Amino acid sequence: MNVLVLNCGSSSLKYQFINTKTEEVIAIGLCERIGIDGKHKYEAKGETIKSDAKLTDHKVAISAVIDMLLNSETGVIKSLKEIDAVGHRVVHGGEFFTKSAIVTEEVKNAIRECIDLAPLHNPANLLGIEVCEELIKGVKQVAVFDTAFHQTMPEKAFLYSIPYEMYEKHRVRRYGFHGTSHLFVSTEGAKMIGKPVEELKLITCHLGNGASICAIDGGKSVDTSMGLTPLEGLTMGTRSGDLDPAVISFIMDKEGITAKEVESMLNKKSGVLGISGVSSDFRDIEDAEAKGNKRAKIALDIFHYKVAKYIGAYASALNGVDGIIFTAGLGENGKASRLAICDYLGYLGVEADKEKNDVRGENRDFSKNGAKVKTLIVPTNEELVIARDTKKLLDK
Ligand code: ADP
Repeated sequence: MNVLVLNCGSSSLKYQFINTKTEEVIAIGLCERIGIDGKHKYEAKGETIKSDAKLTDHKVAISAVIDMLLNSETGVIKSLKEIDAVGHRVVHGGEFFTKSAIVTEEVKNAIRECIDLAPLHNPANLLGIEVCEELIKGVKQVAVFDTAFHQTMPEKAFLYSIPYEMYEKHRVRRYGFHGTSHLFVSTEGAKMIGKPVEELKLITCHLGNGASICAIDGGKSVDTSMGLTPLEGLTMGTRSGDLDPAVISFIMDKEGITAKEVESMLNKKSGVLGISGVSSDFRDIEDAEAKGNKRAKIALDIFHYKVAKYIGAYASALNGVDGIIFTAGLGENGKASRLAICDYLGYLGVEADKEKNDVRGENRDFSKNGAKVKTLIVPTNEELVIARDTKKLLDK
C-alpha cells in the first residue's frame, strides 16, 4: 500500500509518500510559509527540487505536492489512483480517541470539537483532511492522534487539582502529546533491550524544539509531562514548561498585558530562548556556552536539571525503571546533553558509557556493560507509525 502521510501545521506541511510493504520512503517534502509566500522542498529518486511558487493556502500547497508526485520527470506515480490512502497527523483527539481512526464525518466532527484545545493545530489538520477529500476523490483517510497513546493515563495522573467541575464542564485535564513518538521509540527500545514491551518499565524522553517525557508501564503511557496543551512540563526551545500559575496574573499586572499576551510570551519567548537570549536552537546555545556565555550555560543547566527531575519522578511513578530512551532532535544528536542528564541519575543505576554515547542519530545502547538501567538512543519516526497505522486500519 502507498500511503501519503501529511503533517499539516498552521503555515507548514510536512509529507512523506511511503510504501508500507517495504517501508521505503518514496518521496518526502516540506512546504513552508503557506499563506505568506511559499517555499517547497521535494525529494525523490535521489534528487531534491526547491521551488518558491506562491502557496496561498493549504489547498494550493497540497495541490503542489500532488503535482510533484505526478510530474513526468520528478514524479513517482502516474495517476492519483496510486495513492492508496492518506494518513494525517492530528494533534488533539481529546477524550474521543484512544487510537487512530478511519476518517468519517463523525471523526471530523470530533476533531472539530477539539479545536478549543488545540487552536493552532487542529484547524490545519482538519483542513488537510478536507482538501484531500476534494483533491484525491474517494481516497481513504486515517487520522493518527498525538494524544491517543496517553489516554491510558489514570485519573491520578491526568486530573489537575482544581475544582472537579472544570473537568466535567470543560474537559480541563492533562492530555499529553508526542504520543506517536513515545509509542514508536518505546516499541523499538524494547526490541533493543530484547524483552517484550509488556514486561518493561520505560521512560521515553522526546527532546526536540517541543519536549516531553513519558512513563510507560508494560507498553502503556501512565504519565507524561505535557498537559492540557503542549506548554506544560519541560523547559523547551521557546516554551516555559511548568511554572507557578500565579506568575501569569503577576506579569499581567506588572507589564499591563492581557492573559493571551502572557500565554504567547510563555509559548514563544520563553524556554531556553527566553533564558539565554541567544536562540531556541540547542546548537546555537551550545556554541554560545562554549564561548563563555553565562546565560546560555544557565539555560542548558535548567534544561538538563528539569529532564533529570522528571525522570526521577517517573521512576517513582513506575516504581522502578528498566530503560531510559532519548529521541528527537536533541535527544538523538545532543551528546553532551545526554551525558549531563545521565549524570544526575546514578542513584537509579544509570551508567552512561561516554564512548558508546559518541554518536548522532542512530539506534544505540549507550549504557555501560552491566548497568542496571539501559540508556538508549532511538531516532523517532512518527511518519512511519502513521503509515503503519493507516495500513493496519484499512486492511481490517
Ligand atoms: P521539532 O520537531 O519539535 O521542531 P526536532 O525534533 O527537529 O524538533 O528538534 C530540534 C532541536 O534539536 C533543535 O533545538 C536543535 O538544536 C536540536 N538539535 C538538532 N541537532 C542537534 C545537534 N547535533 N546537537 C544538539 N542539538 C541538536
